[in-house]
Amino acid sequence: MEKHELKVQKIKEGTVIDHIPAGHALSVLKILGITGREGFIVTIACNVPSKKYGKKDIVKIEGKELKVEEVNKIALIAPTATINIIKNYNVVEKYKISVPKEIVNILKCTNPSCITRSEREPITSKFKVISEKPVRLRCVFCNNILELEDIEKQVSEKY
Ligand SMILES: [Zn+2]
Repeated sequence: MEKHELKVQKIKEGTVIDHIPAGHALSVLKILGITGREGFIVTIACNVPSKKYGKKDIVKIEGKELKVEEVNKIALIAPTATINIIKNYNVVEKYKISVPKEIVNILKCTNPSCITRSEREPITSKFKVISEKPVRLRCVFCNNILELEDIEKQVSEKY
């Protein structure tokens, strides 16, 4: 009998980021600064059928453990994602990403007259999370709203 399930090579040590919203795997790699030229095995699966979300993306990275700051950035564009830590081909830890309540010093406000963008004395940007899926943020200084596309554009350009 022919099997139609996805066959992806298992990784020995590393991280599997599962349940990424479909079409966002490449943005996740950009956030992590992974270009594919680092030498380790990176597997990307896009638009994989998912019971829960219809379609999802998956990223597997051999030999990489994520830092808290990296997970927080991924949360901005993939709040539904789960992180699986692999050791010796087995999942040793699995957790759902959680969106932080505040986003500090990661994104810039899109309002050009916001105090955080002052050329003389810029202050650290800070946003409150007002919606998680998809993520929407409000600048605590000028109340400007950052939509998902603003956030995605910024995190992809920056990393
Ligand atoms: Zn602002």
